[in-house]
Amino acid sequence: MTRKSIPFRSIQDWSFIFLILFFVLSFIDRRFGILGLVCLAVPLILALLGYGRLHCSHVCPRGSFFGKVVSRISMERKLPPFFRTLEFRYAALVLMAMCLVGNVFRFYPDLTAMANGMFQVMTASFAVGTILGIFFKPRSWCTFCPIGFSASLIKEAQDQHKIRRKSGNS
Ligand code: SF4
Repeated sequence: MTRKSIPFRSIQDWSFIFLILFFVLSFIDRRFGILGLVCLAVPLILALLGYGRLHCSHVCPRGSFFGKVVSRISMERKLPPFFRTLEFRYAALVLMAMCLVGNVFRFYPDLTAMANGMFQVMTASFAVGTILGIFFKPRSWCTFCPIGFSASLIKEAQDQHKIRRKSGNS
């Protein structure tokens, strides 16, 4: 499988600043919570453009926070294997999707309430990821992160499609 060349340099050494900015702005004015959509959309767009999990390795402010900040206080223990199972990853994906879709259904067209719901999902997942990162490896959240997992599923589907196309042509 040929790899697409990477169009930009990694910003993961400092991209956690975006996450801190997001929380500060959202505390000041809850409408900034809607920016959480960027956090969801960018990884998926990059994956759909054929860059796989480029967001995870080069961009993600959350991954950057776990890697650069949480790592300083992490106990570095191994995450229990249960968190790595496909079932658990799908469950986390479905739960997050339900929270996000439920948020839209409950609050549409009230943008402030939707932004607040988005902020709550971002805060809850960030809190879980940070607690796990402290007790286990700093980037434990990434093991089952619904966004990273979705990007993997998109990549897998694209690879399968390419294989099918190739075998159809040969
Ligand atoms: S797995 Fe999730 S939290 Fe980790 S780097 Fe990827 S998108 Fe960010």
